[in-house]
Amino acid sequence: MTVEPFCPIIASTCMKSCVKLENNFDDIKHTTLSERGALREALRCLKCVDAPCQKSCPTNLDIKSFITSISNKNYYAAARAILSDNPLGLTCGMVCPTSELCVGGCNLYASEEGPINIGGLQQFATEVFKKMGIAQIRSPDLPPACEMPESYHATLALIGCGPASISCASFLGRLGYDKITIFEKQNYTGGLSTSEIPQFRLPSDAVQFEIDLMKDLGVKMELAKEEQCEFLPFLSPREVIMKNGRIAGLQFCRTEQTEEGDWLEDQEQVVRLKADYIISAFGSILSDPQVQCHISVNGPAATGQKEAFAKEVSFLNCHYTQTNPTEV
Ligand SMILES: Cc1cc2nc3c(=O)[nH]c(=O)nc-3n(C[C@H](O)[C@H](O)[C@H](O)COP(=O)(O)OP(=O)(O)OC[C@H]3O[C@@H](n4cnc5c(N)ncnc54)[C@H](O)[C@@H]3O)c2cc1C
Ligand code: SF4
Repeated sequence: MTVEPFCPIIASTCMKSCVKLENNFDDIKHTTLSERGALREALRCLKCVDAPCQKSCPTNLDIKSFITSISNKNYYAAARAILSDNPLGLTCGMVCPTSELCVGGCNLYASEEGPINIGGLQQFATEVFKKMGIAQIRSPDLPPACEMPESYHATLALIGCGPASISCASFLGRLGYDKITIFEKQNYTGGLSTSEIPQFRLPSDAVQFEIDLMKDLGVKMELAKEEQCEFLPFLSPREVIMKNGRIAGLQFCRTEQTEEGDWLEDQEQVVRLKADYIISAFGSILSDPQVQCHISVNGPAATGQKEAFAKEVSFLNCHYTQTNPTEV
């Protein structure tokens, strides 16, 4: 073993220039890219015609389009494409398990240099956009707020300010709904993204950036406010029960899963619950025939949240107009 002779000049230069790494978790993700690294990575992408990476993205990101924008140094267009499809584009760029999803499907997986670092490119573009400080606006194609149909001025409440509500409120705001409030029982926002994911993986300012974009659309928040709500698993809504023109309850039937994994509704097991308000959460309607039909036409991964979400809104509308109110 050779031992380098002690050099006081080198040692003092090192002490001044080297950042102390002990207890420094600023960014230890191997996926983080500099501009040079991002441009190299974007140029390596084949922009495949039938890009498998896109089919593996649950948020249906147009991956090759945003990578093309990065290779053209149009970072704004890249971030716009990402955040349009996924309001949590920065969070997902930082913590999404990409090796299981888009990166796992990349055609360059077996190449010597490996698959494209899609999460790193997503993080790079959205971080550049974050530094631009551009506010989010509702679609310019929408009529002015005063000319929107009455239903768009309905009061909407979302319970809990975690990623699900932030995404939902952003899409609702973009569609033109203008009275959205999120009620959060903690005195901080972001849900598990803030409380559980360590700062070196997902810093608070990344979460705050997406919340600020959501607030640009007029979404309000009430913190430290716990709403009394009940989670109702294994039940399928059947009928809204009305009394004196107000919601009084909801009737359900039980659902059971077969050994093959299919969900069955047992119409004979009926449950009635009192309720002042009814909130349909996103996942419950995935068994709705309209949504199922849409998924089978477009393929599960290609369908994405946006279309399912649009269906959810139309389902909610038809649910409340078509349901036959029953007096109790
Ligand atoms: C340790 C840990 C690490 C993780 N790491 C990753 C990762 O690396 N990558 C990844 O993609 N995902 C990760 N996740 C998962 C990710 O954080 C969750 O999928 C995501 O936060 C779920 O979002 P949500 O909005 O549904 O729920 P939550 O984040 O749980 O938000 C729900 C919010 O509702 C509030 N709330 C609850 N009840 C009420 C009430 N009655 N009234 C008012 N407010 C209420 C809660 O306080 C909370 O703020 C991790 C989770 C944990 C726990
Ligand atoms: S599969 Fe890989 S190489 Fe092809 S477009 Fe997607 S990221 Fe680029």
